Amino acid sequence: MFKKQTNFNQHTSNNQPVEVNIGDRFPLTIKRLGINGEGIGYYKRKICFVPNALPEEVVVVEVTESNAHFLRGKIHSIRQASEYRIKPRDSYANNVGGFELEHLEYSQQLKFKRDLIQQSLEKFQPRGFKHYQIKQTIGMDNPFEYRNKAQFQVRLLDGHVAAGLFKTGSHDLVDLPTCAVQIPVTMKVMRQVVKIIEALAIPIYNEEDHSGIIKTLVVRVAQGTGEIQLTFITNSPKLPHKRELLEQISTQLPEVTSIMQNINKGESPLVWGEQTVHLAGEEAITETIGDLKFRLSARAFLQLNPTQTKVLYAETAKALDLNPTDNLVDAYAGIGTIGLTLADQVDQVRGMEVIKDAVDDANFNAKQNNIDNVSYEVGTAEELLPKWLDDGFFIDALVVDPPRAGLDQQLIESILNARPEKFVYVSCNPSTLARDLVTLTRDYKVEYMQPVDMMPQTPKCEVVVKLVRI
Ligand code: SAH
Repeated sequence: MFKKQTNFNQHTSNNQPVEVNIGDRFPLTIKRLGINGEGIGYYKRKICFVPNALPEEVVVVEVTESNAHFLRGKIHSIRQASEYRIKPRDSYANNVGGFELEHLEYSQQLKFKRDLIQQSLEKFQPRGFKHYQIKQTIGMDNPFEYRNKAQFQVRLLDGHVAAGLFKTGSHDLVDLPTCAVQIPVTMKVMRQVVKIIEALAIPIYNEEDHSGIIKTLVVRVAQGTGEIQLTFITNSPKLPHKRELLEQISTQLPEVTSIMQNINKGESPLVWGEQTVHLAGEEAITETIGDLKFRLSARAFLQLNPTQTKVLYAETAKALDLNPTDNLVDAYAGIGTIGLTLADQVDQVRGMEVIKDAVDDANFNAKQNNIDNVSYEVGTAEELLPKWLDDGFFIDALVVDPPRAGLDQQLIESILNARPEKFVYVSCNPSTLARDLVTLTRDYKVEYMQPVDMMPQTPKCEVVVKLVRI
C-alpha cells in the first residue's frame, strides 16, 4: 500500500499529463511555424498551436482547445515580439483564412516555405532526402495585389449585403471591403456588384433555412487582356430582377465581359454546383501567357497568380529540358497552359484533365494558337496514362501538376512502369509531394527542388521538382 502511494506520487510529479482547461493562460516560447502558418510551442511537452504567433516570440497564450494530443490557443498578449513581425495590411487578416502570414516580413515567408519542404521530407523520409538540393524560394517583387480571382461568400449582415470569407473554423462571414492580395479591379467589381444586389433587394442565401438565392460571387480577371468574368453561384435556377441586374452591371461595370450563373442548391460542402448557365456577354474570358491566348471557362482551373505563373512555367520548362523529338505528357492539365507553352519544343503533347469544360478549353486553345501537335482528353491521370501506355504510346517526358491530394498510387505505378526519361513534378503541397517521393524514388532521384511563391501572405507552397531516372 505504502509502495503504491509512493509510485503514485512519483507519477504525479513527473509524468502525469497536466490538466489544461479552456481559458487557461500561460507564457509560451514559439519554436517554429507549422504547415498552416501557425506558431508552434510546447507547454509541459505538449504541442501547442498558436495562430499568428511567430518563431522566437514569447506570447501569453489563452487556451481555446485542449485534448489528449495537442493544445490550441490564441494570443492574449505578446511579451516579446519577433523582429520580423509587421503590421498586416488587412485589418481582418488574423480572422480569416488566406492571410495567415501577412504579419510576417516577406523575406521570412520565403524562408518558411523552403523550410516547410524540408519538414515534410523529414517526416516522410524519401530515399536520399538528406541530400536533396532545395533552392531558395523565388518570391515576388510586390507580394500584394496578385490574385486574379475573388470567390467570396455572400450573406446578410445587420440587414446589409456582405461579401467576404468565413472566420477561420466557422461559418461567420467577415465582410471584406478591401483585400490587399487581390488584383484591385476584382475588388472594385465585387463591391459594386454587392451594391447593385443590395439596391435591387435580390434575396441573399440564408444558411439556417436554406432560403434566399445568391450564395457566392466569383470575379476572375484575365490579366493579359483585362477581361473579367462574373459568376453568381445561386441556390436556385431563379435569379429575381435578372434583367435590371444585368443592365446595371453593363452600364456601371463595362470591364465585365462575361456573366455566368452556377446553380448549387441547398446545403453542400462544395462551392460550385454542376450546372453553369450563360447570362450575358461572352461565355468565357481570354488570358494570355507569353505569346499564347487561352480561353478560360468559369469551371476551369487557372493558377491564381498570373505574375508568378510565368516564373513557374519557365522553371518547369527548364527542369524538363525538352528535345524536338520528345513525346510529352501534360497530366492534370487544366486548360492546357503547360503543354501548349511547351508544344513548340517537342514532337507531340498529350494531356488529360477531369473537368470537361477545361479540356474543351485546352483543345480550343490549341486550335486558336495554331498548335497542331497537341491533344487533350477528359479523364483522370490514373485511368488514362495506363491506357495510353497499353495503346503503345511512348513517353519521353512527363509533367504532373496535381491538386493538393497529390498523385494516385495507381498513377505512380504506371509512371514507374513507363519510366519516362524526363519527369517534373509541380506540387502545391509539400506533404503529399514528400509522401509520393517515397515510391517515386525507387526509380528516380531528385535532382533539385525549386520553390516558387504563388501565394504570398499565405502558408501555401508551390515547388517544381526535377526528377532524373536512375
Ligand atoms: N496544370 C494546370 C492545372 C493544375 S491544377 C495549370 O497550371 O493551370 C490541377 C488540375 O488537375 C485541376 O484542373 C483539376 O481539375 C485536375 N484534376 C484533379 N484530379 C485529377 C485527376 N485525378 N486526373 C487528372 N486531372 C485531375
